[in-house]
Amino acid sequence: MRQDVAIHPLVSPWGRFGLYSFFIDAPEPAIVDTGIASSPAEGMAPALAALGRRIEDVRWILLTHGHIDHVGGAHALWEMTGRRAQVVIHEADAPLLRSRRAHVDEYVAGRGRYLADPDGASKVEAAGNAVISGEMEPTLLVTGGETLSLGGDVTVSVHAIPGHTPGAVAYVVDGQNDVFVGDAVQAHGAANFFPGYEDPFAARTSLEYLRDEVRPRHLYLGHPYRRADGTPYGVELDADEAREALQGSLDLEARIRDSAQQRLRAGLQQTDSPYSPFAGVAEELGYDKDPSLEPSPFFTTMNGYAKEHRTHG
Ligand SMILES: [Zn+2]
Repeated sequence: MRQDVAIHPLVSPWGRFGLYSFFIDAPEPAIVDTGIASSPAEGMAPALAALGRRIEDVRWILLTHGHIDHVGGAHALWEMTGRRAQVVIHEADAPLLRSRRAHVDEYVAGRGRYLADPDGASKVEAAGNAVISGEMEPTLLVTGGETLSLGGDVTVSVHAIPGHTPGAVAYVVDGQNDVFVGDAVQAHGAANFFPGYEDPFAARTSLEYLRDEVRPRHLYLGHPYRRADGTPYGVELDADEAREALQGSLDLEARIRDSAQQRLRAGLQQTDSPYSPFAGVAEELGYDKDPSLEPSPFFTTMNGYAKEHRTHG
């Protein structure tokens, strides 16, 4: 048995968020998720220096999914490694690394349908320009099932966990079951107090897979998501907390599903409510936060149920 490799959270500030990346201290060091454009220089480099490690020695950039607060720093970090690091992302989310425009298209096709903000798309475009450090071709596309060698006998396996985005993946440090899931396990949400997922059924299946098959010894989250009582989990959960967060995410998904499906079957009503046409769902779930705050998990998720309803009834 080899000794466990150490995992270190690296935090970079962004507005009301703390953006979390994770350093895997392997012979070929890895960083999971990259924050935004400024994160590698301002957050990661000093944190690694404090650990006695150098950012230019990083050899793996492991992206859990394509959202701007996870891929925004990828190009900048890759440059800091002299373009020697492998940049890994699922092929279904790769367009979000290749193109800033893809983030606008995703907004328009999803939550933007419900956010009655005429400037919504241009705000998303401006955010992409500000926080994505560069458009780039990934150096390694994955689909789940791959094993990556981080030197010595350290390996990381890739697991497809679609739902939050189509190309969401978990990275698992083999033999020690440390599991990085990005935003796939949200419990009661982060700053906006609502979990966001594009494909509810896939999200549910992925949560069950993590709970029943992967069974994390440690679970690393992309943000300090909240429990039912509003208190945040940390971003580094032990096995018991991981089970609780996975089960809590599943329980809440079931409640949201129930409510959304009832309203969709009854027919949606446009009203003056900021939650329109899903005001009934917000009311039933007691959700009273601002649903227009980007990235608007409420409408992302509602759009997911509406799509399911159109497809399956
Ligand atoms: Zn995300």
